Amino acid sequence: MASYNFYPGPSRVNKNVPDYFRDAYNQGIMGINHRSDAFMELSRNCIQLLKEKLTIPSDYEIFFTSSATECWEIINQSLITKKSYHLFNGAFGEKWFNYSKLLHESTEGFAFGKNEKLSLEELIIPFESELICLTQNETSNATQISGKIIRSIRKSYPETLIAIDATSSLGGIHLPMDQADIWLASVQKCFGLPAGLGLLICSPKAIEKAHTMGEAKYYNSLTALISNMEKYQTSYTPNVLAIYLLYRVLQKRKKITAIEAKTLKRYNQWATFLSDFSDFEFLIDNEKIRSNTVIALKSTSGIIEKIHELSTDTGITFGKGYGNLKTTSFRIANFPSILKKEIEYCQYFLRNNFN
Ligand SMILES: *Cc1c(COP(=O)(O)O)cnc(C)c1O
Repeated sequence: MASYNFYPGPSRVNKNVPDYFRDAYNQGIMGINHRSDAFMELSRNCIQLLKEKLTIPSDYEIFFTSSATECWEIINQSLITKKSYHLFNGAFGEKWFNYSKLLHESTEGFAFGKNEKLSLEELIIPFESELICLTQNETSNATQISGKIIRSIRKSYPETLIAIDATSSLGGIHLPMDQADIWLASVQKCFGLPAGLGLLICSPKAIEKAHTMGEAKYYNSLTALISNMEKYQTSYTPNVLAIYLLYRVLQKRKKITAIEAKTLKRYNQWATFLSDFSDFEFLIDNEKIRSNTVIALKSTSGIIEKIHELSTDTGITFGKGYGNLKTTSFRIANFPSILKKEIEYCQYFLRNNFN
């Protein structure tokens, strides 16, 4: 049976991946040594394309990791000596905060409501915070923090490093890359790739802090990543295949501004379509803070159960509600690799089975 994957990560894999996979096999990419010239060239080309297509400033550094979670850990261990400050309204942001607390007791955070716009006025970030951490797109409840708010945080705290988790938005919408010092993501969401590769993007100021701090205790210490990346290498044998697939997908992709236009157009179409239903409604009432790449809907547990049951029979996979929202919500990915005809099929399914 055909499969229609609307899970918000791991997600629908880009349709060209099977061809790229075969090319990788035929060209011997899967078995290349990660200290070889061939790898260094691939790594350099991939990083170049990321910068070009996602409008990442040319003086920023990009590192390959194994996951977004590993990026949290690298930041926590290599860029914070005592204290970071976390802004969060959902499960992923809170998880990062909790990991950080395990390493640094004095870590502080501010939890805001999922229907609340993050407001800087009521926010007092202690001056000794070394890093402000936030989740641009909170995948668990389908909310996002706007570029405008990110800019105003940068303006209010010009000296403090800002780290942003953009795991489910990088590659799907146009983010103000120059307004934060650290961005992190993994490829199984908006890049439409199999899981197993993370991206850590750092400004010159973040690199400088890593050097000043000099933390070098672990295989994935940022200082080790930096010195290996001087040769476009990694400190361990990386997922070369995933780097190759990312390179191929990026080569074919339009620039992020064009991708964002497609994401927004599709999002608006989804929103109009969904507004006709009485069986479910948007989990987030406040339209202004809804995510464009992940849609979350709420309903009764009976209807949620029916949605998963019927959709599975039809070959459609929706995202379950996340954490404590599991029985009262479900999620629909709006990632670039999903095909138009798949969205049409999914909407046909919803129209025919729900009110
Ligand atoms: C999926 C996700 C993660 C975790 O990504 P991994 O690659 O599994 O570590 C972290 N943060 C956000 C916002 C996510 O959506």
